Amino acid sequence: MLDKSRLRIAMQKSGRLSDESKKLLAQCGIKINLQEQRLVAFAENMPIDILRVRDDDIPGLVIDGVVDIGIVGENVLEEEVLDRQAEGQNPQYKKLRRLDFGGCRLSIAAPRDEKYEGLQSLEGKRIATTYPHLLRRYLSEKNISFKTCLLNGSVEVAPRAGLSDVICDLVSSGATLEANGLVEVQTIYQSKACLIQREGDISAEKQALIDKLMTRIQGVVQARE
Ligand code: ATP
Ligand code: ZN
Repeated sequence: MLDKSRLRIAMQKSGRLSDESKKLLAQCGIKINLQEQRLVAFAENMPIDILRVRDDDIPGLVIDGVVDIGIVGENVLEEEVLDRQAEGQNPQYKKLRRLDFGGCRLSIAAPRDEKYEGLQSLEGKRIATTYPHLLRRYLSEKNISFKTCLLNGSVEVAPRAGLSDVICDLVSSGATLEANGLVEVQTIYQSKACLIQREGDISAEKQALIDKLMTRIQGVVQARE
């Protein structure tokens, strides 16, 4: 078992957020020796343990109180919260701050060669996505009903593969959409990485360490602006 007196921070093991997350912690003065295959890394100079996991697991680890802090995309966080709420739970966490990396948008994209005539034309259509709750929240506000095709990867090939009419996926440059013959027609959510803390009691020592890290992060982010 990990030592509960040490601050536990969860970050993405490998992916779009991992380099920036690692850099941020290093710039805060945390000396960590990340060994590629290891799930847990121990800071040498502060009472901090770093857990390196799939980004999708991070919101749940914080909400369930398994880790103290998480660095995760708002898109993944919000989807997990909506998913738990749909199951009748009341997920709790504290958002400490938005970060200055991991920027992307969740957008609906349609095949280039099919005419798109506004959101109304999505009525009754099948939409492939990894984010069914964020999509439902957006479209239900517009009174549009749709069918989902839930995919955790390769969302952009779904229309060509005959699995869906359109997609709702993360976009940054748009190159992936373009390469798959899709055009972005509607942004439904703007995301960045963020720092979240678990709800509930935390020792004074841990809270003091979190406060110190927050001050340092503020300095790091400001210096980059
Ligand atoms: P994991 O193996 O940890 O589950 P993943 O493949 O689900 O990784 P990544 O592609 O590494 O996830 O993306 C992680 C996060 O990076 C996204 O949830 C999002 O917040 C952010 N992000 C920034 N730009 C993009 C982009 N163009 N496409 C996808 N995600 C992006
Ligand atoms: Zn993931």
